[in-house]
Amino acid sequence: MQIADHVVDLIGNTPLVRLHSVVGAGDAVVAAKLEYLNPGGSAKDRIAVKMIDAAEQSGLLRPGGTIIEPTSGNTGVGLALVAQQRGYRCIFVCPDKVSEDKRNVLRAYGADVVVCPTAVPPDHPDSYYSVSDRLVRETPGGWKPDQYSNPAGPASHYATTGPEIWRDTDGRVTHFVAGVGTGGTITGAGRYLKEVSGGAVRVIGADPEGSVYSGGTGRPYLVEGVGEDFWPAAYDRTVPDEIIAVSDADSFDLTRRLAREEGLLVGGSCGMAVVAALEVARRDPDALIVVLLPDGGRGYLSKIFNDDWMRSYGFLRRPLDPNANVPTV
Ligand code: PMP
Repeated sequence: MQIADHVVDLIGNTPLVRLHSVVGAGDAVVAAKLEYLNPGGSAKDRIAVKMIDAAEQSGLLRPGGTIIEPTSGNTGVGLALVAQQRGYRCIFVCPDKVSEDKRNVLRAYGADVVVCPTAVPPDHPDSYYSVSDRLVRETPGGWKPDQYSNPAGPASHYATTGPEIWRDTDGRVTHFVAGVGTGGTITGAGRYLKEVSGGAVRVIGADPEGSVYSGGTGRPYLVEGVGEDFWPAAYDRTVPDEIIAVSDADSFDLTRRLAREEGLLVGGSCGMAVVAALEVARRDPDALIVVLLPDGGRGYLSKIFNDDWMRSYGFLRRPLDPNANVPTV
């Protein structure tokens, strides 16, 4: 019988699917790795299980302990799934700009959510960084995974994501494209693919215009989960061969096309990564490109998939509502 013992055992082994209509005629094969098919809905399930395993082994996390992390989204869901299985409590700290829906997802999995004001500097005692550090100090058995510096993040992608891509392409992958947030995905999976291929696989990062990875200063952008205004320890900048900067407008337009034309309802960082993958596909028609799509699109219905929101930023190129621009009588 094929019955998993626990939902945590279903993390990883996500499938590849070929993209068609968004890829130019005569361009390379582009295969998308669907991380939203992880049980918590994102690639972050992978790092959650590995970070918790490592903390249990090193004694930082003990039975009955509490996991405390500043996160508003995917990492929180992953940590909450594993915490449930193993009897840990979770406290997630998030800024008040995070939508009520996202906070409720974390609460639904049994986590406590502490909300902090967005409009204070990081060193202010009420900032979400300060509050999470204080909670770790004051909570007996408290442990902060810190996905930005935890080596188990990249290690999880080295151990699972990279080998899955190599296996599922029969070793024929030539390019790996992924968005860069903490840098864990590109560092871990990219390093594995370079090693196993003797340096033949090219690793390409996708980054929002304005973020440090593509030479920006941290200027604000709207695509979520990727780009930074500092250099996290989880990112090894020697792994990517190239970083491609992508605008919010192009990221969101392609995200909408993935739902409309490819049947893939995914998040904005997925559209961003595919924009970069399509650039590589145009340049190198003989390539086999794998692009990682980190999460699903349901968390973005009121933004990327909302014509009014898209129009308010000047991003709307293809309305979802065909009558959108027709004045009602
Ligand atoms: N997309 C989304 C939606 C994410 O949440 C993340 C993680 N921050 C990424 C992309 C980037 O992954 P990584 O942190 O491994 O660089």
